[in-house]
This record gives sequence, structure tokens and C-alpha cells, in this order.
Amino acid sequence: MSLIVVGTMAFDAIETPFGKSDRIIGGAATYIAWSASNFCRPIKQISVVGYDFPQEEMDQLTNRGVQLEGVQIKKDEKSFFWSGRYHMDMNTRDTLETQLNALATFEPVVPDSYQDCEFLMLGNLVPAVQLSVIDQLKNRPKLVVMDTMNFWMETALEDLKKVLKKVDVLMVNDSEARELSHEFSLVKAARKIMSMGPKFLIIKKGEHGALLFHEDQVFFAPALPLEDVFDPTGAGDTFAGGFIGHIAHTKDISFENMKTAIIIGSAMASFCVEKFGTERLKEIKKDDIDKRLIQFRELVNFDIELV
Ligand code: AMP
Repeated sequence: MSLIVVGTMAFDAIETPFGKSDRIIGGAATYIAWSASNFCRPIKQISVVGYDFPQEEMDQLTNRGVQLEGVQIKKDEKSFFWSGRYHMDMNTRDTLETQLNALATFEPVVPDSYQDCEFLMLGNLVPAVQLSVIDQLKNRPKLVVMDTMNFWMETALEDLKKVLKKVDVLMVNDSEARELSHEFSLVKAARKIMSMGPKFLIIKKGEHGALLFHEDQVFFAPALPLEDVFDPTGAGDTFAGGFIGHIAHTKDISFENMKTAIIIGSAMASFCVEKFGTERLKEIKKDDIDKRLIQFRELVNFDIELV
């Protein structure tokens, strides 16, 4: 099984109503790799960092089965930096600062050893970079999944639309789905977005779960009600990692299996928010994941008699 993950590897500074972090390790591809590697290895990472990205973090990823041949290190630039502040509901946030740094001039090169990968996860980053990776692959993967965010809808919409035409699954949150489609109803938004290219659409709704759309079908996965949410940063990427990790592990790209994959994504995301940054993801073991999946099953399992 083989999976390419593309995305940012970054520094983040996060403020929540309950606390504040210093510059900590983040980035879409970092979270995806930590999450997906529970289900599928090796992971072939494509990203860019600056001189300031700690070697120790790279080594931890390598030990985890994440190959870094496709990660460029720009010796005279800083790593991508993002800072954000969460509102009281912890579902919405404002971006305070986005410094592209090394990402601004990033031209990805897909190493030969990454060719023939069956699955491609395009984490959130510059749409032109996502497109370049798709175009460099000699054989189209079995499934191409893409994440993106409002920042790129506002700064690179035309490129974003080009990528949409080439992907199978798009993941966005509810406000991004509305922004992209200019529709308030998520059902109408889904129809419109699927007409732009992706055959499957996942709309993430933070603590209210996630919806999976395909043709006229729709499936809902809840989020686990948690007593404490410390930091939602990376929850979407961790969700993506669980989703694609399960798909790459099972090699089954049916709607039915995607239902399981979004439950696994939701379970992984529920760990991510329990501590700041990637801390919790680094601690969890298979047993923790299994127990949480059982909690998910119990959360939505009920009997009903038709009257
Ligand atoms: P999430 O909370 O899942 O949306 O992802 C948060 C992560 O996305 C953080 O670790 C950031 O470093 C990263 N991030 C924030 N803005 C961007 C952006 N414009 N492009 C790529 N990655 C970003």
C-alpha cells in the first residue's frame, strides 16, 4: 500500500479562550502524517520547510514510517508560519497571520521512488503546488483526496478550480463549502461543488460532525462529545489522515467504505483536540484508537421500531 501526502509543515501560534501556545509544530501535512501512519506505512511526504524546522521532529516522523525524500529544506528561509485565535465556541477562528516564507517559492519535485503510489492526499496548501504534484505523477492514483481552505479561495480561486477538476474527493468545512458554492444550504452547496469536479464531498462541521456526499447519497458521522477541547488546530487534517489512512489500508474506494473512513477520521480528530498541537497524536496507541471507535459505535447505535 502506498500513500503520498502533500501539505504544509509549519510553525503555529494558537490562542484559545483557555490558553495560548508558543510557536509549536503544526502544518497540514504534519497532522495528516501523524494520523494516517496509524493505518498505513510508509507515507511519502511532500512539503517544504525552512532552516528553523527542528531535526528532531523530522526524526520522529521518520521513525513513524514517514519518508521525507520529497521534503525540501530551504536553508535561507523560515518555515511557513500561521497564527490563529479561536472564538468562545472553539468551532470558529480568526487567522491572525499567515507567513508563507519557504512556501512562497516552493516548487515540489516528486521523487522517482514516489511514483506508482495508489493514493494521493493533497493536504491544504497552495493550489498550484497541489496541481503540480498531480501533473508529475506518471500514473493517476486510485483515489485523489484534496483539502483546502478559505485562504486559497480568496487568493488563488482560479488555480483551486483547476485542481478541483482533477480530484475525486474534496474536504472542506461548512463555511468554506458555502463560500465556494455561494449557497447556504449544504445540500445545494454539495451539488454545486460536485459539479466542479469531485465525485465525493466531505463537509466538516467541527464539533457537529461531518457529512459525506456522493451523487444522491448522504452519510453523517458525529463528532465525539468531549468534556474538554484544548486546541482544535489540526483537527481537520487529522480527520483527513484517518480517512485516507483507512482507505489506503483497505484499498476500497466505495461509498460504503468511505462511511467507515469518516468515522475513523472523526475518531482521530477527537484525539487531536485533547492537547495542544500534535502532542496527543504522538501519544496514542492502537488500543486507544480501538476503544474510541467502540465509543463512536455506541454513540449512534439505536433500535427503532417502525410504527
Ligand atoms: P486545520 O485546523 O485542520 O484547519 O489545520 C490547521 C493547520 O493548517 C495549522 O497547523 C497550520 O499550520 C495550517 N495552515 C493554516 N493556514 C494554512 C494555509 N493557508 N495553507 C496551508 N496550511 C495552513
